[in-house]
Amino acid sequence: MIPALMPTYNRADLVFERGEGAWLVAADGRRFLDFGAGIATSSLGHGHPHLVAAIAAQAGKVMHVSNLYRIPEAERLAERLTAATFADSVFFCNSGAEANEGMVKLMRKAMAEEDHPERYRVICFEGAFHGRTLAMLSATGNAKYLKGFGPRVDGFEHVPFNNLNAVRAAIGPETAGILVEPVQGEGGIRPASLQFLRDLRSTCDEFGLLLGMDEIQCGMGRTGKLFAHEWAGITPDVMSAAKGIAGGFPMGAILATERVARHMTPGTHGSTFGGNPLACAAANAVLDIILAPGFLTEVDRTGRRFWRDLDRLVADYPEVFSEVRGAGLIVGLKCVAPQGEVAAACLAEGLLTVNAAENVLRLVPPLIVRESECRTAAEMLARAARRCLPSKAKVAAK
Ligand SMILES: *Cc1c(COP(=O)(O)O)cnc(C)c1O
Repeated sequence: MIPALMPTYNRADLVFERGEGAWLVAADGRRFLDFGAGIATSSLGHGHPHLVAAIAAQAGKVMHVSNLYRIPEAERLAERLTAATFADSVFFCNSGAEANEGMVKLMRKAMAEEDHPERYRVICFEGAFHGRTLAMLSATGNAKYLKGFGPRVDGFEHVPFNNLNAVRAAIGPETAGILVEPVQGEGGIRPASLQFLRDLRSTCDEFGLLLGMDEIQCGMGRTGKLFAHEWAGITPDVMSAAKGIAGGFPMGAILATERVARHMTPGTHGSTFGGNPLACAAANAVLDIILAPGFLTEVDRTGRRFWRDLDRLVADYPEVFSEVRGAGLIVGLKCVAPQGEVAAACLAEGLLTVNAAENVLRLVPPLIVRESECRTAAEMLARAARRCLPSKAKVAAK
């Protein structure tokens, strides 16, 4: 018989009762170091007192009023996000896929209002992940996710990642823009080269296209800057954020320049829940922490120290790992052994990880993770690697 909870996930048989910082405690008392962070989402870890207090206080005042009225928490959040980024205006929604859908709507609307209604197509990349709605499945382009769900939504093409010639060759009279993850997450923690991001910016300028960025996973401080594109010294025209934005409370956002946002007049887009007082209180509390002086510098420093340990891990266990990739605290360990086996060994050692494509083990700890906890994670990874060694190598390692 089908479970009452629709079985769309292969869940681990683990129930967490509470959490504390980077740690989760299971119902049976076992403690796990959480380097999955609910898929790069629990940015402040678990039970963060400032986030908990902000949510409790707002819940006691008013949770939801709809966008028929002014919402001071949303106005304040939008002002803080625009002050901290390239953007002039922000739309709030409830998830990553919804933010990406809205972003594509903004790109098409801007083109239509600039007298180019024929420009509606978006160039996407192989290995991308943009979400599970019908249109974002087509933007994702992964045949495995599309199968059985009818014809692809029109308007998306895919070219190899980090390949400028392929991008330029794909540009046509119907192209509205380009959609890129500065660091591909689900696709295997594959970073765009900084030069590629700069080249995408100049290509968009050359052809009058819009540059859209999906920073749902790599944004909100994860790379050690508020948004990952900042490392390249360029800005997009429009960008999506979600996952870590409200520390685990569901929220998405579309950030845009005035050029793109000014056409989104009353009635052009909407969301019942989007930007409600509770979500915005959570996101404002997250910003209080990650925009505090020194916080992102510390994320960067913690990431760099963690990478040193991981480089050593890969050198010590070439039978298990072949590469460290990503940026800051969005890290992929490319596995030689089957990723599922390595993840199971990590779990047995008390370390939670997430899988990613290309046989990659994903490590995305809360941004508040301590240096000592990263060292503990590296030790757990080394013990997990020893469990995965082919038996001959295991004897040699002893
Ligand atoms: C998770 C993710 C999405 C989809 O977000 P949902 O909140 O699951 O809809 C889109 N793009 C990227 C890069 C993501 O990591």
